[in-house]
This record gives sequence, structure tokens and C-alpha cells, in this order.
Amino acid sequence: KKTQRVDKILGHLGMGSRADLKKMVKQGRVSLNGQILKDSGAQADPYHDRIEVDGEPVLYREFIYIMLHKPAGVISATEDNRDRTVIDLLPAKYKVFSPFPVGRLDKDTEGLLLLTNDGQLAHDLLSPRKHVPKTYYADVRGLIGQEEVLRFEQGVELDDGYMTLPAKLVVTGQDHDEEGPVSRILLTISEGKFHQVKRMFEAVGSKVIYLKRISMGRLVLDEALPKGAFRELTEDELALLR
Ligand code: URA
Repeated sequence: KKTQRVDKILGHLGMGSRADLKKMVKQGRVSLNGQILKDSGAQADPYHDRIEVDGEPVLYREFIYIMLHKPAGVISATEDNRDRTVIDLLPAKYKVFSPFPVGRLDKDTEGLLLLTNDGQLAHDLLSPRKHVPKTYYADVRGLIGQEEVLRFEQGVELDDGYMTLPAKLVVTGQDHDEEGPVSRILLTISEGKFHQVKRMFEAVGSKVIYLKRISMGRLVLDEALPKGAFRELTEDELALLR
């Protein structure tokens, strides 16, 4: 049994500073295994003892899984000297778990990003051998059609000579902007080379002008989440990734 001070446990969960917690204990708001706690320095096992604050059980867990709708302009890293990171978007109560992004989206790419501190799950999702499919929505320059669908199905050669694995391209619409025709597409790839989607379109003479990840494996971005918003995965969503 591994015990820690109760004020430390609650502090890790973002429930207040040590002084705040001392006060809460003094006010009789914290209980341990059904007994009102008298000393905020008492020891408890966060996984097995029952701690309640204002009668509400405190959930302590090892792992956290967060779905983020990444906005453009933030980078997929835990720290950066110049730019805001995806971790900077989270409140303290999640940061205490030290989550990190599972894979990377470019600074200008939006959409689904999973944040977790579960290294094993992250490793499995990113392993090149597992070919976890990722689906992107993009707006690209030019009229994309059957020729590109076939080329992506067969694999295209990137600027460094790499041949991509078969990818599924679906054209969902066509439009125009000041510079000419724009195609709206969905692309599913089963690998994750650097700037892969952008480089695949470059390989067929087009250019990505907007990119958003929609899904990773069987996990789909919750369209009710606005850009920059996040929530924990549900049990069902987590099961989809395992
Ligand atoms: N492919 C890209 O080019 N950029 C991303 O952010 C993700 C996939």
C-alpha cells in the first residue's frame, strides 16, 4: 500500500494549495474512509482509501485520456520557448497528470488530438507496425478526381523518395476561391510521416490549404467540441482505442 499526505493527494488533483486544503480540513469538509479528517497531513492511499470532499468522492487515477479539438496556432508539444502548446490549453487539474500529445499535428492543423499520460497506449497507437488509420478532412488546390484517388491508392512518392502506403481518398466537394478551384476531400492514411498529408498532395501537384484531423483509429472527434475545447474520453471511447 502506497500512502501520501491527504493534502498532497488533493493538491495533485488541483483542489487547492496546501493552505487551502488545511482550511478545508479544519472546516470538516474532508473525510477519509467515512471519518471526518482532523489532520491534513494524515496519510492515505489515493487508489484504495476513500477520500471525500463535501461528501463527494474524489477520483484519483493513474491515467488520464483527453480529447482535444486542437485549434490552429498551438503546437503539439508539452513545452516550447516561443509558442503556446496544447498543454497550455488545459486547466491545472489535468496538467497534474502530466499528459502529452499522442503524435503531432502541425501548428496550422486543427482537429482531433489525444492527450494522455498512458505511455503504453500512446506507443501502441503510434507504432509504425500497427498502421492505425487516421482520417483527415482537407481543402486542397485544384480539381482532385479519380486520377488522384488511384494514385493515392497505389502509393505516391514523397519529396524524399519515400513511397506511401495505400491511402483512401474521397472527394466530398468542389468549390472556388480567388485563386481558383478548391477540392474538399477526406483522406485516410495508415502511417504518419512528417507533414504526410501536405506532402502527398504536393506529390500530385496540389497544395493543402486547410487541414483537420477527424479520427484516429476508431476514435472520432466529437463535433460538439469547439476549437480549443477538450473533454475526457468516455469509457466506450477508450475501449475503442484498446
Ligand atoms: N499531415 C500533415 O501534413 N500535417 C499534419 O498536421 C498531419 C498530417
